[in-house]
Amino acid sequence: MQVTPNGHEPIISPRLAIDADGKTNLLGLDREELKTVIAEIGVPEKQVRMRANQVWSWVYHHGVASFDDMSNVSKDVRTKLAEHFVIKRPEIVEAQYSNDGTRKYLIRFADGNEAEAVYIPEEDRGTLCVSSQVGCTLNCKFCHTGTMRLVRNLTAGEIVAQMMIARDDLDEWKNPTAGRRVTNIVMMGMGEPLYNFDNVKKALEIIMDDQGIQLSRRRITLSTSGVVPHMERCGTEIGVNLAVSLHAVRDDVRSDIMPINKKYSLDQVLTACANYPGAHNARRITFEYAMLKGVNDSDADARELVRLIRKYKLPAKVNLIPFNPWPGTAYECSDWDQIQRFSDIVYEGGISAPIRTPRGRDIMAACGQLKSASEKKSKAQLAREADAAMHVQESDSALGWVTG
Ligand code: SAH
Ligand code: SF4
Repeated sequence: MQVTPNGHEPIISPRLAIDADGKTNLLGLDREELKTVIAEIGVPEKQVRMRANQVWSWVYHHGVASFDDMSNVSKDVRTKLAEHFVIKRPEIVEAQYSNDGTRKYLIRFADGNEAEAVYIPEEDRGTLCVSSQVGCTLNCKFCHTGTMRLVRNLTAGEIVAQMMIARDDLDEWKNPTAGRRVTNIVMMGMGEPLYNFDNVKKALEIIMDDQGIQLSRRRITLSTSGVVPHMERCGTEIGVNLAVSLHAVRDDVRSDIMPINKKYSLDQVLTACANYPGAHNARRITFEYAMLKGVNDSDADARELVRLIRKYKLPAKVNLIPFNPWPGTAYECSDWDQIQRFSDIVYEGGISAPIRTPRGRDIMAACGQLKSASEKKSKAQLAREADAAMHVQESDSALGWVTG
């Protein structure tokens, strides 16, 4: 079990998701596991590899959810498969479509926990923002997800399912490679992906598999708040692009807004970036920098950012994210002029620093705004309970007054 900096341990789900009627969900099994479960139901040994390949291709290349549709699998094997297995996506509780084309899916998993995935279409690409945990243990002050009480790691199946759900909704399976609409994945939804390393790795391997969804590792970016011990592994074992949530250039400010900085300092994070396997100019590390008015957005901050990137000789670019407000936040977005000045200073330092246009603001789908509806409801529930408790106290004291 991985222990997080604040000592809060995410709950790890069972390796295999078992359906309500006792069937194993095949989504999220890797190829070896798929062969094992197919052998276990009595498919003749000589056929196991072939059947596993066929099922894999139906599930991940064609997106089928029913064994009946697997036309090249013999009838008796299909019957056996259907007796023991399901290919089941979690439930979409709500799909919200923004007027800019962004789509947000609120997904409820078998145990009732929820997470969000967001699809963002752009001219030359379509990016799916995927969650790795329900909630997040790290409590960055400017992030809505960090305020959630419930935290558990998503299973590999639940992570892969977010991609399946988006492809279903975008009707993308018919023409699996040529007609791609989800061309990129960013692990920038809810949660810290490096605190769920094994499941994230397994899910991305399934998504990259060349007989399945076939998304290239160059089109996948994993964003971390700076979990230093796992950054190198991310490069060597998964091989995807790295984004690092920097958000401040001084330890005191960063520790204040991102408590993980007390555990892994700026120096440690930037050193890990310098050592990131595969980082070079053609494949730069992205630094995410949310513009928080009066906190991290001064000209001096911008100059310090340039100095640090040079000092550590980082092949890096900076994504400036206008802070996305959420109900109850203590922060404000920097003034537009200041965001532009900041960007100019960094550009003048020879480092690319585009300002990210906020997408899907009307449906609260932007960075750091994700938080499940059930969590919001439970807050409302809490408020109701608090009200009820007040009434009890009031009636108690009233009673006290009468009897006293
Ligand atoms: N936990 C990972 C990935 C998810 S967050 C991480 O922190 O990197 C995706 C990005 O959105 C991160 O850079 C995060 O710091 C940023 N972010 C969080 N809340 C935000 C907000 N309210 N406005 C703008 N960006 C925010
Ligand atoms: Fe967690 Fe990332 Fe939000 Fe920080 S910014 S609380 S690490 S999801």
